[in-house]
Amino acid sequence: MRSIIPQTGPRLAVQREVNTTMLHLIFGGIHLDGRKEGTRRKPLADLDVESEQVILSLSEHGGAACVPVVAVGDIVAQGQPVAKNEQGVLVHASVSGTVQDIGQWPHPRGGTAQAVVIRNDGKHTLWPGCGQEIADWNSLTADQIIDRIRQAGIVGMGGGGYPTANKLETNRGQVDTLIVNAAESEPYVTADHRLLLERSEGVLVGLNLLCKAVGATDGVVAVESNKLNAAEVLERTAKRCGLPGRVCTVPSRYPLGAEKQVVKSVTGREISPDRAAVDEGCVVFNAATAFAVYEAVVKGLPLTHRVVTVTGGALVRPRNLWVPIGTPMNELVKAAGGFKEQPALILAGGPMMGVAQDDLAAPVTKSTNSLVCMLDWELGEKKEETVCIRCGRCVSVCPMHLMPLLVDKELKLGGDVRELRRLHTQDCMGCGCCTYVCPSHIPLVERMEQAQQLVKQADRKQVEVTP
Ligand code: SF4
Ligand code: SF4
Repeated sequence: MRSIIPQTGPRLAVQREVNTTMLHLIFGGIHLDGRKEGTRRKPLADLDVESEQVILSLSEHGGAACVPVVAVGDIVAQGQPVAKNEQGVLVHASVSGTVQDIGQWPHPRGGTAQAVVIRNDGKHTLWPGCGQEIADWNSLTADQIIDRIRQAGIVGMGGGGYPTANKLETNRGQVDTLIVNAAESEPYVTADHRLLLERSEGVLVGLNLLCKAVGATDGVVAVESNKLNAAEVLERTAKRCGLPGRVCTVPSRYPLGAEKQVVKSVTGREISPDRAAVDEGCVVFNAATAFAVYEAVVKGLPLTHRVVTVTGGALVRPRNLWVPIGTPMNELVKAAGGFKEQPALILAGGPMMGVAQDDLAAPVTKSTNSLVCMLDWELGEKKEETVCIRCGRCVSVCPMHLMPLLVDKELKLGGDVRELRRLHTQDCMGCGCCTYVCPSHIPLVERMEQAQQLVKQADRKQVEVTP
């Protein structure tokens, strides 16, 4: 394969040393049974049979929903923009074909959302506006990199969905450290792990492009300590290609996918609840996002495909699939051999923070990293809620330094909004660690969500009455 590394030109001023070290421990979190055996050795594979249609959701980005720029009956090419929003975020056709429908469609986050449905002609005709490769990517300016990222419609692929170009512009000149977070701490999910093993050069080039775009001088890929093979592959690739950047192993602990936790683990910098990573000079991107940046900037390809782990005890043949965005979930189930037993729960995302799916017509979005189809025994026994025994476990595992037991108590007393604010309920990131450890089986994460809703409603009312 031709190297994508320019042979001449300046390198970025990030550390050349490839350093695999374990650094700082995070506060809280839990050890989980990884359950990754089903797919961690499964290489990325295309769908055996392509989906006849793709459903491109127009509501998956942070900010306003996108508006279609095509009409029903239009012929579209792969990579052609089909919708955009006022912030300039684009959605591209992930296959070539005909626009079949524009309307409401089930969304993996629940409910429905507007989508552009394309009937796949199976020809993969590439849009003329994409596919222009840049051999010497080192010569690009920060503005040029950000512009190509924007044109490619890249958003945070770890779940956030925030437009990457906007994030780079907001953080530009304010950070010294850029972390590509490949700590995939959710059980079952191995999508990023396989990406690191099989597309390491692209991830490292993406890291360097992101560093240049945002002005960071230290580029780090954070890999969990239970994925040392990925760390070794990255090290070898970085040395072989002469790419700057560091590989840092972080403790295998959930929830390391969260931004504040990975910053603490890699740099030792603690981010207090009212501050963001940028306030401590750091910015974090997901590994899949870094790879998408490489594809966009170096190969000129918009974000039209992603890796999805399709797994769980209910499936015949769990796999890691490289699929067009918009592929319906039921096509993923087919590609994994179908159900050998009826699943008790199907989740988009991992079992800790994933969203239950009741309609498999919902499509893969830019931030869908997995489809987990679980049997009853995988869910564990559901036990009755009893009274809080004040053991303090929910406090000791909360990575956000919150006190879920007090929030639960406050809700039972009627839910005084001032008190809920004082308890910083809005800082809860819904990781579920508190529920997981509670010996009284109190659904604390649901209580936190309930409290957040109460605070949000009160805030809305306040805005309405303020002249
Ligand atoms: S973990 Fe459960 S029982 Fe223990 S203090 Fe928290 S809410 Fe109470
Ligand atoms: S769900 Fe919220 S309250 Fe519970 S441990 Fe996670 S961050 Fe803390």
